[in-house]
Amino acid sequence: MAEKTHWKKMTNPNYMGDYSIPEGQDLIATIDYVRKEKVTGVGGKTEEEVVAHFSDGNKPLILNKTNMKTIQKIYKTPYIEDWKGRKIQIYYDPTVKFGRDTVGGLRIRPIVPQQQTVSLICSDCGKQITAAFGKDAEWVSRYTHQSYGKELCAECAQELKAKQEACKAPDPFKKQEVK
Ligand SMILES: [Zn+2]
Repeated sequence: MAEKTHWKKMTNPNYMGDYSIPEGQDLIATIDYVRKEKVTGVGGKTEEEVVAHFSDGNKPLILNKTNMKTIQKIYKTPYIEDWKGRKIQIYYDPTVKFGRDTVGGLRIRPIVPQQQTVSLICSDCGKQITAAFGKDAEWVSRYTHQSYGKELCAECAQELKAKQEACKAPDPFKKQEVK
């Protein structure tokens, strides 16, 4: 079956929406950077929003708190700088509510996306991934993808692991404990 084109895809060139998601499928996108920016909505109102930009040609995605919490959960870091290079799997949830209305919205699956192809290039340093930990290069690529959401060489993987363990910052999304 030929892929169909949602009319909104033709009229909203700026951000990712339900029309960006292939029917019945998820969209996998690689985060380049996340920043605050002014976004003009359909009604012409401009507001500051947190927006994820992708390195793989996908339109930017406006991030709400639910989706940011999901990214934090998958990759175990609340820092947007550490989200660079990570892949997220986006789907359309028709039950998302806005106030009392059911409007539908984009959601991120709480999983590290399945690796589509095994890349042997480290996404942090750009060098070739080589055999390590007594395993071959392909294993290292699959393992780091599964653990960190991006393919890394052994050196970068260890560096990232150390960084994550050292970071004992308070979780901004965690509820305050009631004493
Ligand atoms: Zn590397």
